Order: sequence, then C-alpha cells, then structure tokens
Amino acid sequence: MVEDVRAIALLSGGLDSALAAALTLRLGFGVVGVNLATGFCTGQGRCDTVLATGQALGIPIRLLDVSREYLDVVRHPRHGYGSRMNPCIDCRIFMVRKAGEVMAAEGAAFVVTGEVLGQRPMSQHRRALDLVAAESGLGERLVRPLSGRLLGPTLPERMGWVRREDWLDIQGRSRRRQLALAREWGITQFVQPSGGCCLLLEKVYAARVKDAFRTRGPELTADEFALLRHGRHFRLSPAVKVVVGRDEMDNEILSKFAAGRWMLSLPDVPGPVAVVEGAPTEEELVLAAQLAARYSDARPGEPVRVTLVRDRETRTLSVIPLAKDDPRIASWMLGE
Ligand code: SF4
Repeated sequence: MVEDVRAIALLSGGLDSALAAALTLRLGFGVVGVNLATGFCTGQGRCDTVLATGQALGIPIRLLDVSREYLDVVRHPRHGYGSRMNPCIDCRIFMVRKAGEVMAAEGAAFVVTGEVLGQRPMSQHRRALDLVAAESGLGERLVRPLSGRLLGPTLPERMGWVRREDWLDIQGRSRRRQLALAREWGITQFVQPSGGCCLLLEKVYAARVKDAFRTRGPELTADEFALLRHGRHFRLSPAVKVVVGRDEMDNEILSKFAAGRWMLSLPDVPGPVAVVEGAPTEEELVLAAQLAARYSDARPGEPVRVTLVRDRETRTLSVIPLAKDDPRIASWMLGE
C-alpha cells in the first residue's frame, strides 16, 4: 500500500521543493518535511515559510541545525567552489546525506528534493544530479519528482509504487510550469528566487570567507565565522582585521563579540563600534582607532577621542580620523 510508504522531503522554503513534496503527497505517499539550517541562508523568514508549507500540506516538519558540520563542507569541498565560495555539489551531497539520515530514523523509504534538471548550471546538470545520488549514498532512494521522467529510474518506480509518467518532466531555468502548478495546487507561501538564497554566493561575504580561510586556516572559530556577516571588514595585516559597524544594529551586534577582542567606540561624537580581531601592534591599534573615527561624525583633520576596551583593560587614544579618500582604506577593505 503506497500510503504506508513514507518519503522525506527536503524543503528549502522555495517553490520547487514545496511542489516536489506536494506531488509526492498527491501520489499517495506519507511525507515528512525536513529543513536544514546551514547558517548561510539569506532568505528572510525561511523557516517560517517551511513551517507554513508544512501546515498547508498537512505534513510534519523537522527543523535541523547542521551549521557546525556544514562549516567543514565549506572549508574543504571535494568538488570545488562555484563562482564564489559556494561549494554547490558538496552542499547538495551533504544535504541529501542528512536527509538520508532522517529517512533512516523515520523509517521512510526515500528522499525527495525540488531539484530541476538544467535549472542551475553548476549543480543541476545530469552528471551532477547522478553524482549527488551516488556520493550521498542514497542512489535510487533519491527522487527528484519535478524532473523524474527525464532521470534514471528510482526505488518508487522499481517497487511499482508509481509509474514513470507520474513524475514531471520539467527542465531548464524557466519557472513558468512551477508557477502554474503552484496556482493549481494552492501553494502560496514560498521564498522568491529573486530574494537570493545563499550568502556564499554574495561577492562581499565570499571575499570575507576566503580571507578568513587564508589567514586563519583551521584556527578559524565559529564565533569568527559568525562575525563575517556584520559590519565592514578591513584586513590591516595577515594577523589583524578591523570590523567597523555600519549602523545601530551592526553596532549592537558587534558589541556581542567583545570577549577577548579590543572594542573601540567614540565617547564624544556619534560613531561606530569597531572590533579588532587578532593581536594588533600599537601602531595597528592606532590605525584601527583612526579607521573607526573615519566613519564617525568627528571633524576631518581634528583630534577625537577613541575608547578601547578589551575584557578588563580600558584605554583612551586621541587620534586624527583617516581621510575619507585615504587609499589604504580601499586596499584594506574586503570585497567591497
Ligand atoms: S547556492 Fe549555496 S545553498 Fe545552494 S547549493 Fe550552492 S552552496 Fe548550497
């Protein structure tokens, strides 16, 4: 009985994965949705969208934080990076393997994803899809319902639970058919692809990640990784980086990274909070203070006080802000 067979649907919050889950349900299978939080998602409210999809489809949702393990995928992708720091093939293998673990734990028979043949040049061509199936260890237990008719046979077909023509034959980058199906099946909540999906594809963020791997190597901590998301980043030397808040929210977030780092602020004028990573020399500390002052309301060319606090140590420096057009600023700035 097909209704006794369960599938795990890997849900990203996007339309394709919601449709893959919906089609699997419509074919009579039980479905459990899984969302994996890698720490690199950019879509606002992605988890909420996945939960809403679960509610609309009437399926249970498992939300899993895999960010620690995922860091290793980003550090050492066997299949390399895409255009930026996005290790798409290794990422897909990791995600599918994780979904496979849930499949085993839930006693499900197969995993479905929203992948569409030819939709993404790097990770969704036929060879990449086959590679993901093989290297994730799922093989015929990995089903892509939206392109299933165009791909090799999978377990549900071999077992006679579905016919080949029950799957769809969507391919390519156009989303016309998916949008039509969403209307037909009443799927209204999904993250728009134009909203981006992955920080690792973003130029500035990718430059920061690359710099962090180069300068910190295996020493890089999860805390340092988290800091890459915030502020403007300036690499003063291989051992020292300064992060300067861009707005109130950045300043508030940067303040949470104070432990063990020099925190800079300007007591006399409105200005940013800045964090110094590494072990700065006296000269680099002065440069960091001048840099923070550059982004404050201090008068150009006039001295301004900068307070430096590291754990229980407090100092005050009087510095001249760097000039706005000081060419060193552009050479230090990562990715912008
Ligand atoms: S874009 Fe990011 S989330 Fe998507 S497959 Fe590539 S690395 Fe993974």
